[in-house]
Amino acid sequence: TPGALLGPAEIRELAGRLGVRPTKTLGQNFVHDGGTVRKIVRAAGVQPGDRVVEIGPGLGSLTLGLLEAGASVVAVEIDPVLAGQVAQTVQRHLPGADLEVVTADALDVTALPGEPPSALVANLPYNVAVPVLLTFLQRFDSLRSVLVMVQAEVADRLAAPPGSRTYGVPSAKAAWYGSARRSLTIGRNVFWPVPNVDSALVAFERHEPPSTTATREQVFRVVDAAFAQRRKTLRAALSGLFGSGPAAEEALRAAGVDPTLRGERLAIGDFARIAERLDAGAG
Ligand code: SAM
Repeated sequence: TPGALLGPAEIRELAGRLGVRPTKTLGQNFVHDGGTVRKIVRAAGVQPGDRVVEIGPGLGSLTLGLLEAGASVVAVEIDPVLAGQVAQTVQRHLPGADLEVVTADALDVTALPGEPPSALVANLPYNVAVPVLLTFLQRFDSLRSVLVMVQAEVADRLAAPPGSRTYGVPSAKAAWYGSARRSLTIGRNVFWPVPNVDSALVAFERHEPPSTTATREQVFRVVDAAFAQRRKTLRAALSGLFGSGPAAEEALRAAGVDPTLRGERLAIGDFARIAERLDAGAG
């Protein structure tokens, strides 16, 4: 009888039988190490009865780990061949486990079947990791926590504090929704095929957005403009948004921000205070 989780032999067997040739554009690297799967599930703090959304179940490695921990899972997979197989794989390993599969691009998903998920747990494909995370936090208020495995470099960017080398648009926008913490590094050898980079876990706890009269869209417009030209001072970088003349400088001063700083120094609350001036002036 198979154990609960997938190992290297079964990953190869499934991939061979399904004719799966992992594609780079979809970031298809499958975890064949049960120890890694259990580390992710433990880091996510999954409890029996939790409702979890997983993006990109692939062959089902992490899906089985989540179900083994007693979660009920809704999994969104873009690849129809993989999406069509995962329920059968789960049925064989953990008969009766509670899994629903949605075949779709996660970025197009605006509603999920069943109970609203309280957690997102995923091994995210590198090219959509940040948009998927931000989109799901925006669309699903029920999400209280997120545990994702991403490329180590993306993990650093998501969890970077203001002023650090890797702080940028993903860090600032993620901070609107909550606080991200980089945890374990996961070596590339737990994957088949072996990718070129190591991965890391990011643990994310939702909290209230900064209290502000600006909308999230306005705040994110300021963030995008501030980082569009990283080398520019905020005064120069925001002149497109506020219009030429002194408006950008006035908005920065009113927000208590030195106009000669660069965007990388500002916390999300600073961006929000600047965006409040978009209401008063342009925008
Ligand atoms: N969770 C599996 C594991 O840990 O072995 C597979 C992880 S693999 C890195 C990423 C998975 O995400 C692949 O199955 C891929 O087909 C899927 N995927 C890629 N882009 C996606 C998208 N936009 N929406 C949903 N799934 C996507």
